[in-house]
Amino acid sequence: MLDGAKRWIGGADTADLIAVFARDTATDLIRAFLVERTAPGLRLETMRGKVSLRPMQNMQVTLENVRVPDDARLGRVNGWADVARLLRAMRSDVAWIATGLQAGALEAAIAYVQHREQFGRPLASFALVQEKLARMLGNLTASLGLVVQLSIRQDAGDYRDENSALAKMWTALHARETAALGRELLGGNGLLLEHDAARFFADAEAVYSYEGTHEITSLIVGRALTGHSAFL
Ligand SMILES: Cc1cc2nc3c(=O)[nH]c(=O)nc-3n(C[C@H](O)[C@H](O)[C@H](O)COP(=O)(O)OP(=O)(O)OC[C@H]3O[C@@H](n4cnc5c(N)ncnc54)[C@H](O)[C@@H]3O)c2cc1C
Repeated sequence: MLDGAKRWIGGADTADLIAVFARDTATDLIRAFLVERTAPGLRLETMRGKVSLRPMQNMQVTLENVRVPDDARLGRVNGWADVARLLRAMRSDVAWIATGLQAGALEAAIAYVQHREQFGRPLASFALVQEKLARMLGNLTASLGLVVQLSIRQDAGDYRDENSALAKMWTALHARETAALGRELLGGNGLLLEHDAARFFADAEAVYSYEGTHEITSLIVGRALTGHSAFL
């Protein structure tokens, strides 16, 4: 029997099966179940007004006395260590997303400043514009180095929670700056949805907070560095 609620579940309204992680009250261990979207007691509510990652619909999922058969349980999730293994892989994916987002923001900014003219010259010819582009490229290049290194370790089966937490934390932090610089470079147009810069700017905020917030991923790294957990 499953009881509980979780917000922000992406794509839950179209999925046939929803993966639910729940604490077993008898053993205190985390278990995972595949629950049919139409199961009695499972309720979905659309979350409205989201400004980031707008194509993806997120739902509030509420479970009240939802009965699931034992064969709906994922046998390889038997505690927090197994959940951490999944989060480790997902944070690596998000670090790549934060890196790709920066490449998109840089590309959009370069395209714009080449054709927009002020004072009779393209924006691209101004020194301060070039400084922002250089910072964006620096952030992108450093992020790329980090995620490539992480993926090499991941492929070799030699990476830990703190490795993917660091990559997620650091790339998302810099994606936020890169996207903001790109937004700046478009001036007022950077605030219009019709320009990619605004989309990257808004999406960077989601990437910064989901799949382990900046703070929590930092604390995972801090725990590895010091041996002290600041959050548990
Ligand atoms: C666009 C989007 C898509 C998402 N998709 C999914 C999805 O598909 N599936 C899913 O399960 N979840 C999803 N999430 C949820 C996401 O993982 C959470 O929003 C995220 O983990 C943060 O949790 P919260 O929003 O409850 O923030 P809170 O936990 O309330 O945190 C608020 C702030 O307090 C800080 N904070 C909390 N605890 C501590 C602490 N101990 N020390 C220091 N700071 C702390 C946080 O870092 C954050 O800055 C999504 C979220 C977003 C925004």
